[in-house]
Amino acid sequence: TVEIRNVHKSFGDLEVLRGIDFSVESGQVVCIIGPSGSGKSTLLRCVNLLEQPTSGQVFVDGIELTDPDVDIDAARRRIGMVFQQFNLFPHLTVMRNITIAQERVLKRSRAEAERIATENLKKVGLLEKAKAYPAQLSGGQQQRVAIARALAMNPSLMLFDEPTSALDPELVGEVLSVMRQLAQDGMTMLVVTHEMSFAREVADRVVFMDHGVIVEDGPPEQVIGNPKHERTREFLRRVL
Ligand code: ATP
Ligand code: MG
Repeated sequence: TVEIRNVHKSFGDLEVLRGIDFSVESGQVVCIIGPSGSGKSTLLRCVNLLEQPTSGQVFVDGIELTDPDVDIDAARRRIGMVFQQFNLFPHLTVMRNITIAQERVLKRSRAEAERIATENLKKVGLLEKAKAYPAQLSGGQQQRVAIARALAMNPSLMLFDEPTSALDPELVGEVLSVMRQLAQDGMTMLVVTHEMSFAREVADRVVFMDHGVIVEDGPPEQVIGNPKHERTREFLRRVL
């Protein structure tokens, strides 16, 4: 579970998050939508404290990450993150990309790490690419490896920041289908996306952000299907 209480974030004079409150229950999928610059990525980065909120509190699984005394590295281990750019290590094979953090951070043996990597490569449909290097894979395949790598750390929460935005259109579907499966398996997910059909089908809730505030938060059939606010309607007119 995630709980965000009155989070503000400024960069110098620019107030990017202006009092954000919301929560994600265990097993829920919440999609965040909103215009460019509205603060979606900043909010996601505040959830795992890649950005330090200027004020407010962030709780993940009951642990306050904004508590200055918290062991932030330990808390972060429970949170997987997948970015628009896949951020794989180019000089390492797919297998090594997935085992390295397991060994270094979780202190798993090589054999154990490879067993778990294999399991997760199966899950994303890429077992046959274990020995390939990232440059030998399509963007969609690279993103699925990035998802497998995050899953291998046994996260209780997965954050996705526009995971399909850098992909050619024909490669978007394979990544979304892996995410859809993950949602069905009960993973707690917070997903910034422009894929309205994914949000409609998979999300338990959709959050519409604009100018650093949450304008609307509810089930997809409400926020996308029948939005209450003019700002939401205007945004949807542009993206749908
Ligand atoms: P997009 O849809 O384009 O990804 P977004 O909703 O994710 O947009 P953010 O990346 O969260 O938006 O950025 C919100 C605002 O904060 C923007 O005006 C951006 O320029 C600013 N911003 C983000 N990170 C920083 C930073 N490290 N330093 C200064 N300003 C920043
Ligand atoms: Mg962004």
